[in-house]
Amino acid sequence: MIPFLDLKAINAQYHDKLVTACMRVIDSGWYIDGNELKEFEQNFADYCGTQFAIGVANGLDALILTLRAWKELGKLKDGDEVIVPSNTYIASILAITENDLKPVLVEPDAVTFNIDYKKIETAITAKTRVILPVHLYGQITAMPEIMDIAAKHKLLVLEDSAQAHGAEIAGRKAGSWGDASGFSFYPGKNLGALGDAGAITTNDAELANMLKALRNYGSHEKYKNLVLGVNSRLDEIQAAMLNVKLNFLDQENQHRRQIADLYLKEIKNPAIKLPLKNIEAKNYLQHVWHLFVIRTKHREALQKYLTEHEVQTLIHYPIPPHKQHAYKEWNDLSLPISEQIHAEVLSLPIGPNLSMDEAKKVVQLCNGFKI
Ligand SMILES: *Cc1c(COP(=O)(O)O)cnc(C)c1O
Repeated sequence: MIPFLDLKAINAQYHDKLVTACMRVIDSGWYIDGNELKEFEQNFADYCGTQFAIGVANGLDALILTLRAWKELGKLKDGDEVIVPSNTYIASILAITENDLKPVLVEPDAVTFNIDYKKIETAITAKTRVILPVHLYGQITAMPEIMDIAAKHKLLVLEDSAQAHGAEIAGRKAGSWGDASGFSFYPGKNLGALGDAGAITTNDAELANMLKALRNYGSHEKYKNLVLGVNSRLDEIQAAMLNVKLNFLDQENQHRRQIADLYLKEIKNPAIKLPLKNIEAKNYLQHVWHLFVIRTKHREALQKYLTEHEVQTLIHYPIPPHKQHAYKEWNDLSLPISEQIHAEVLSLPIGPNLSMDEAKKVVQLCNGFKI
C-alpha cells in the first residue's frame, strides 16, 4: 500500500535527533515555558520573517487567541464581521464564532481553491473589521491584493497559515503578510510536532504581549491577571521536537514540489483536473503542497480504483462548513463553488518521504483510470 502520509517513516528519518532533544528536556527538569520554547519562537519568527512568534497549544487556539487579543485591545467587539473563505477547514470559522464575531463567507476561486479576492470588496459592510484568508493546501492566497484591500478599508488581516509553512508570494512568506498569522504544528502539517502545537507570528509588539498573557491565564506577571486568559501553552518537549524539524522544513517542502511537478507534468487523464501551480504570473509563488488536490466528476470511482490498486487517498474536505450540523443556521445558504469543490476534490499521496517510484506508480494508475 502507498500510504497517504507515512508519519512514522517521516519522523524515523530524524529519530536520533528527536530522541536527543527529548532526553535533554526530560533531564532538564523544566517542562513548560522554558528555553526550548524561547528558542523555537525565535527560530520560527526568523524563518517566517517576523519579529515575534508566540507558541500556543494548537492551531485553533492560535486563531482564537489572536481574535480575542484584538478584542482585549479594543480593536474588535462582539458582532463585528470577519471575512473568511467558504471552503476551508472548519477551524478557521470556529475561531470567529468562538469569539462572538460574525463570519462572512466568501466564495473561493475555483482554480486556486483560495478566497477569490475580487469578491471581497462586495462583502465588506460597516461592521467588517477583519479579513481571514486561509492558505489552503499549501498555496498562499493572493496576499498583495488582499493587503491593498485591507489598507483601503482599514481592516485587520489574520492569515490562517496552518497548511502553508514556508509558502511564499512575491518573495514573502506566509505568516509575514497579515497583522498576525496562525500556524498549526499538528503532526500531519508541513511542519509537524509529535503531538499538538501551534503559534502566532506578528510584528506587533502590543499584540504579542497580549497573546503571551492570554495563553497563560491572562497573566503578564506571575499571579497578576490582567485579562481573562486560558491555558494554551506549547510545552518544552514539543518545542524541542519542532526545533529539530524546522531545520528540515525547506528540504521537505522541496521534495513535495518535486512530487507535485511530476504529477502536474505526467498525469494526463481528461477525467482528472489538476491543481494550478501559479495563481498570478506577476507574483512569483512558492507552493508548499501540503496537499495535492485534484478534481474529478468521478471521485468515488477513482478513489475506489486507487484503493484497489494499493494507493491511499483522502478527501479534504467532504462537507463544507456551511453544510455542517454545527452551523445549521447556514445549511440553506447557497455557495455553489464551494459545494462543487467539496463534491469533486480528492487528495493524492504527497509528502516528504514519498519516493519518486511511488509517485510514478500513482501517475500510471491515474492515467490508466477509465470511467
Ligand atoms: C489544521 C488546521 C487548523 C487547526 O490546527 P490544529 O492544530 O488542528 O488546531 C486551522 N486551520 C486550518 C486551515 C488547518 O488545516
